[in-house]
Amino acid sequence: MNTGLEKKYYIFDRLAKGPVLAVYSKRPMDFLIPDGEEEARQRLYAEVEADLGYRFRKVVHCRQTHSDIVHIVEEADLERGLPDGDGMLTDLPGVALEIRTADCQSVFLYDPDKGVVGNIHSGWRGTLARITVRAVEKMVSHYGCRPENIEAYINPSILRCCFEVEDDVIGLFGARLDVRSYAEKSRVLNGHQKYLLDTAAINRDDLLAAGLRPGHIFLSGVCTMCEKETYHSYRGDGQAAGRNGSLICLRQ
Ligand SMILES: [Zn+2]
Repeated sequence: MNTGLEKKYYIFDRLAKGPVLAVYSKRPMDFLIPDGEEEARQRLYAEVEADLGYRFRKVVHCRQTHSDIVHIVEEADLERGLPDGDGMLTDLPGVALEIRTADCQSVFLYDPDKGVVGNIHSGWRGTLARITVRAVEKMVSHYGCRPENIEAYINPSILRCCFEVEDDVIGLFGARLDVRSYAEKSRVLNGHQKYLLDTAAINRDDLLAAGLRPGHIFLSGVCTMCEKETYHSYRGDGQAAGRNGSLICLRQ
């Protein structure tokens, strides 16, 4: 990768060199592409390719639905495309996995030992459903990965400073973990108690419980709402928010 890329992309230092290409776009790039506008999509992918100085064999994506569905991307999927889902894994070199987010987490997974990459869309619903852990489990069962070799990278997303929720969301998380460790009361608005919730920490701790090493989990520490001048933010921009695109690919 050439230098100067950090103006257009957030890039984890550890992934800046080596066998993986992994970027998370900044404004003004916008990966919110209306259905059917395939040319716009291909133009964006071509821009990323030009920036990276690398030609992807194929970029794959799926319609994201805040599910816990993780797809194994194999040769046949490159032509027929993927059904709905929120996570993708592959061991095919040159194939980029693309996820779009505005405040939600995009989590890169990488096993350097088995040569497997993943890109996971984990908003609060996906985090509640442990989609990132589902992806790790698939890396183990399908590719024979060992959790202690898997690295996880949580890209810029809305963080505890800005992710305000109410009792309904707190109650859902409270049903499966000690939510008090991850939430604090913020304010009362129109009679509703608000809380600040740390979903990045929940994802990190779920990954630790799944067997990842503490030194293999990397958090950007960047909040998309605090830095909404740099990143698209749903909470910051509302319905009109664009999307940050993240792509990860094993070099051929
Ligand atoms: Zn913030």
